[in-house]
Amino acid sequence: MVKVMAVNAGSSSLKFKLYEMPEEKVLCSGNAERIGHEDAIFGIKWADQSEKKILPILDHARAVELVVQAMLEKGIVKNMNEIKAVGHRIVQGGKYFSHSELFNKDTEDKIESLIPLAPLHNKAHLVGFRAFKKILPDVVNVAVFDTAFHQTMEPQDYVFPIPYEYTEKYDCRRYGAHGTSHKYLSEMGLKYLEGIKHPRIISCHIGSGASITAIKDGACVATSMGLTPLGGIMMGTRTGDLDPSVMNYLCKCTGKSVEEMYQIFNKQSGFQGVSEVSNDSRDVLKACDEGNEKAILANKLFIRRIADYIGQYYVRLGGADLIIFSAGIGENSARTREEVCEAISEALGVKINKELNSSIRGKEALLSTNDSKIKVAIIPTDEEVMIARDTFSFYK
Ligand code: ADP
Repeated sequence: MVKVMAVNAGSSSLKFKLYEMPEEKVLCSGNAERIGHEDAIFGIKWADQSEKKILPILDHARAVELVVQAMLEKGIVKNMNEIKAVGHRIVQGGKYFSHSELFNKDTEDKIESLIPLAPLHNKAHLVGFRAFKKILPDVVNVAVFDTAFHQTMEPQDYVFPIPYEYTEKYDCRRYGAHGTSHKYLSEMGLKYLEGIKHPRIISCHIGSGASITAIKDGACVATSMGLTPLGGIMMGTRTGDLDPSVMNYLCKCTGKSVEEMYQIFNKQSGFQGVSEVSNDSRDVLKACDEGNEKAILANKLFIRRIADYIGQYYVRLGGADLIIFSAGIGENSARTREEVCEAISEALGVKINKELNSSIRGKEALLSTNDSKIKVAIIPTDEEVMIARDTFSFYK
């Protein structure tokens, strides 16, 4: 038995989960939030207990110290040598990484060189990695990339129709995101596809960030997010795909800079922007029930975009055997699942058991009826366990 930690370091947060491998037993999980502040928050859950405190956490190294201290204090580990490996989530692996990699100097340099493609994320991941290295110098560190699963796309699926010089010189292309989740979902989905020689899966990771991926024979063929997570379907605060001239036109109309408009496309658009109610689909759906017209429009746009991508990927895959719903909205919102299935049912012959669908939240289930042309399932995603699995495979 080996203890392996999965880490997700953001610019002001550090989430962690400790596993016993290969059993995949969760020993503890927690989060340091508001790193950089005097009133930061540190929370940890273990066994059936939890603790939360407010205290100064001025940098990530301090956050890692607190993680270590808490695990020793609570008896989750007897000494830190029990932790043999740490897996770090990395948002952008660019063209370099098609699978997880040992976090050595070369990996570190490449992640650093990719900062322009994911400025907030990759920088924070490196800070997190260095903090762990300082406090736990002897463990195996592994980098697990959100983009890696999508590296099997063919050029016609990842090249943008811009001057090829830019594709080559600036590596400007589709990379996608949520790859660790889509890989997990595609593996978990196989149990519904026994006897099918070349399984074709469309996985819908729909949370406040949302992406859809077409998967054939376990490999990604196409994915909706683009150069960054801004592309693809509409999200909580992101636009998803747009006519590129919208940027130019709105900058001229409003006098805002490209950077300001880019921030608006990322942080004030999607559900938030159209509904003017909230970025949270729960609030938007509630407003729909109350007859709020902008909320109704926002929801229609959202469903339309998901249905359109499913249609696109149905064609790309030459058909589909399984559609998976996952993440915050996909796992919890029966209404969204039902409306998406309704929107594709005429064209694709998808049928779900509506009663079963409306009774299920956050649990795995096969929703499609026997006469549905494509199976439909809810599968709760688990990115951390994928990080732990990959990390453990390097330690073995
Ligand atoms: P992310 O990881 O991208 O931050 P999550 O996958 O955790 O997002 O999804 C969070 C979102 O899930 C929330 O913003 C909310 O819109 C949505 N959500 C959660 N529960 C429900 C529900 N019961 N009905 C509708 N939407 C829900």
